[in-house]
Amino acid sequence: MSVKKISILGSTGSIGTSTLSICESHPDQFRPVALAAGSNLEVAFEQCVRWRPQVVSISTEALADQLSARLKTAGVSGIEVLHGTAGTVRVATLPDADFVVSAIVGVAGLEATYAAVLAGKTIGLANKECLVAAGDLILEAARIHGVALLPIDSEHNAIHQCLRGGAANEVKQIWLTASGGPFRNTPLAEFEHITPQQALKHPTWVMGQRITIDSATMLNKGLEIIEACRLFNLPPEKVKVTVHPQSTIHSLVEYIDGSILAQISVTDMRLPILYAMAYPERLPSDLTFDMAALSQLDFQQPDFERFPCLRLAYEAAGASQAHCIALNAADEIAVAAFLRGELPFLGIPRTIERVLSLTSSASPASIQEVLTADRHAREQAHEAIRTAAAVVA
Ligand code: NAD
Ligand code: MG
Repeated sequence: MSVKKISILGSTGSIGTSTLSICESHPDQFRPVALAAGSNLEVAFEQCVRWRPQVVSISTEALADQLSARLKTAGVSGIEVLHGTAGTVRVATLPDADFVVSAIVGVAGLEATYAAVLAGKTIGLANKECLVAAGDLILEAARIHGVALLPIDSEHNAIHQCLRGGAANEVKQIWLTASGGPFRNTPLAEFEHITPQQALKHPTWVMGQRITIDSATMLNKGLEIIEACRLFNLPPEKVKVTVHPQSTIHSLVEYIDGSILAQISVTDMRLPILYAMAYPERLPSDLTFDMAALSQLDFQQPDFERFPCLRLAYEAAGASQAHCIALNAADEIAVAAFLRGELPFLGIPRTIERVLSLTSSASPASIQEVLTADRHAREQAHEAIRTAAAVVA
């Protein structure tokens, strides 16, 4: 395999740094050529010094000026420093890049991911919010441009691997595994008082803040249900969830003859990232699973009463694209308010439910329409949070 040149959207985040660690361990296979970061100037600077990409993008013009100045002082030249959406789009479409890792968190990554598809890049997709908000548009563009969308989200990566065991029309249904998060056994009566500090402690995965809170509410699994419907062209009723606290089986595909294929590996995102970047080949790695240490695999039915976000996601998936956009946008606003201490834990599903109830069925026909619907849902979420705070006060 010749060296694949990699663009990373969200290079300073949890998935972004894991991607760079794969580049570090497989220097003959992968080389980063473009990086897009949010506001973490220090890490972006260090990544530029280490990897000397052709292009780096950072969120604002002020940060881009600071980054340019620091690179100049450090004697690092030849890196184009950009900012904002134009910068992330340039990183996503760099002519020299063979493969784009989409790992900006939230709808902020949508335009760049869509631009990468239009530019015909092979994509390793971590950013699930893109598919939730604009899955139909992205999949349609990928089909037209002959682009492969390789899932990095561990469950969808597992499904992608298990689907190599049979034909699409032989699939009966798929099973997404869920760790259940830190509150799997917490009584419902205690949910109202859950603090951000408690919710940020995930039992099996180390991840960015939003996805960690989403795992605690199980909205993450809800987003993954919609992501799976889009990626694998399945109706919501064929995407099931099973709670599997050990996170050893990453997901399963059930075939019409009764066979169920599962994917087992270490709980380390570097493996799905490596799989996506190497696809259709497999590369050796040291991410070995210790079969001798495997003692127990537990499974439980998800509890829709304690985790209403799961129900809300199924409802949005069955309703319309506008409802999926609203689900994601309302959650993003509610999670940020919860982290600031302005909303109780159960305020997250309450905010989502309120915004969904205000949403009319629609199918946006362009990314701009998706972004407009997204902005509208965010405003409604802010309003719902303000009203709830006023009622409590
Ligand atoms: P993170 O918060 O650790 O990193 C997010 C990255 O996006 C950072 O580099 C940040 O600087 C960048 N960013 C944020 N806003 C930006 C903006 N406006 N413009 C440009 N860059 C911006 O998040 P993460 O855990 O790495 O997750 C990234 C995505 O991958 C999310 O969509 C998440 O759902 C998905 N995902 C993550 C994991 C995981 O294990 N971390 C697993 C599955 C899926
Ligand atoms: Mg996942």
